[in-house]
Amino acid sequence: MLIRRLPDPVPPARHEIAASYIGRLARLHGLDINTLWQCVTEREASGGIRRVVVPERLAAITGRTVHSLAGALPELRTPQPDWAMFRHQPQPGCHHCNAKHPGGEVTRVLPHHRYVCTRHRLWLCPTDADGHTTPLDALPEIVQAQRRHLRILQRHGWATTYDAVLTGILICGQLWSRPENENGGVWHDWIRRANILIPPGTAEATYSVARLCAAVYPEAVALASLFASPYWRQQAQKTAWDRRLFNAEIARRLRHPHYGEHENDPISYWANMTAKRPPLAPIRVHDQKHHLRKPALRTATQHAQQRQAHAFNPSHRAGDALTAHRHLATVFRRAWHPFRTHTLLPNGDSTYTLSW
Ligand SMILES: [Zn+2]
Repeated sequence: MLIRRLPDPVPPARHEIAASYIGRLARLHGLDINTLWQCVTEREASGGIRRVVVPERLAAITGRTVHSLAGALPELRTPQPDWAMFRHQPQPGCHHCNAKHPGGEVTRVLPHHRYVCTRHRLWLCPTDADGHTTPLDALPEIVQAQRRHLRILQRHGWATTYDAVLTGILICGQLWSRPENENGGVWHDWIRRANILIPPGTAEATYSVARLCAAVYPEAVALASLFASPYWRQQAQKTAWDRRLFNAEIARRLRHPHYGEHENDPISYWANMTAKRPPLAPIRVHDQKHHLRKPALRTATQHAQQRQAHAFNPSHRAGDALTAHRHLATVFRRAWHPFRTHTLLPNGDSTYTLSW
C-alpha cells in the first residue's frame, strides 16, 4: 500500500526510535499504526521476520530528507551507529522536551551520558534504574554535574566515560553505606540530597534507586573525571607510598581530610586493581528487535523496591540498594572477577580475556 505525503509531517525528536515516530505520525493523521508501519518498512535482508524501516519511504511520506531524518533517528543511520554507546532500553526522556512533539508518547534511545535535561533541570534516570523523572530545582549541583560529565565525554570518549561514571556511582554507593566517621563531608551531602529527593515519611511513594543515583551523581562525576584521566590513572598505579598526590586529590574531591590513612576502601581497590585495565563494555546493548516492547519492572523487582522503601534510612547503609542495582552491573562484575576484563574491541564488539 502506498501512502502519499502526509499533510502534517512533524519532525522526529532527537534520539527517537523509528517505531515511536511512525506511531506519532499515524496518530496525528488518524491512520492505523500497523498500516503505516507496513508502508514504510520491509522485511530485513537476512530473510528474518523482522521488518526494518526503509529511510527513503519515510522520507517520501514526510517530505523530509533521509539525511535530516537520520540526524534524529539513530536507526536510520548508515552505517548503523555503535549501539554500545546507547542505553539498551528505550525511555521517554524529558517530558517537558517531549511536549513540543505532538502525536502521543515519545520514546528515545538515549546515550549513556544523558542523566539530566539541563534545560528543564530534570533527572532522567535510566529506565533500568526505575522511577520517574525527578525535578532538580533544589539541587543545582546535579545539573552542573551533567555538564561536567559531558566535558569528560569530550575529552576521553564514550567508552572510558561510561566505565568511569558507573564506577564513580558504584564507589559512592559503597562509601555511603559506610559509617559517618569513615566518610568525608560528601556523606552529609548525600543525606541532604536524599532528604530532598525522598522526603522523610514519603519513601513509600517517592523512593527509587534512580533517586539514590541522583543523590551521589555530583561526586560520582567528580571521581569519574579522575578515573578517566590517563594522568591520574598513572598516579593511582604507583605504590601505596607514592600515591600521595592521588590520595590528596581524592581527599579534596570527597572533602575527606583523612582519606588515604586506610588501604581498605573502594577507591584504593580501584587504584590497585582497575586503574591499569581498559574500560568495560556494557553487558547489554540496545536490540532493535525488541524496540516495540515497553520496558516494565518485573513484579519481583517492584516487591524488592517496596521492601527497600519501607526500610530506607539515608543515614544507615543507604548505598546498598544502589550498588546492588543492575544499572551498575557492567562495573559490578569487577567485584567478582577482578582479573577478568571485558574488553571493547575497535569494531564495537566485546570479548572476555583473562589477564593477570
Ligand atoms: Zn527537557
